Amino acid sequence: MDSIRYNEEDFDGFLEELISSGRLEPKEEGITKLYLDKGYDALSDKQKYVFDKMVENNSVDECTRCGCSIPWCEMFAALDNGGLCNYCEHMQEKIDKE
Ligand SMILES: [Zn+2]
Repeated sequence: MDSIRYNEEDFDGFLEELISSGRLEPKEEGITKLYLDKGYDALSDKQKYVFDKMVENNSVDECTRCGCSIPWCEMFAALDNGGLCNYCEHMQEKIDKE
């Protein structure tokens, strides 16, 4: 995961979704809250490591169907639907219904 993506729109919202979903371990949750409060630069090297790993484990690099990169606002849904972007998720639903 490219840490440049942390600056993208909706990343903070994605983190908040992760926290409220209870997916994170207590340590990860604490560091994520610190990130939201103070920003990435406020984390120690150890905390950055844990944070980076956490993001990596809770995100999908690209859509498994069309290969587009998944925006953060769709990431939380992608974790549940097998790594699909919003568009492909809808396409998949259509196919399933037919
Ligand atoms: Zn897709």
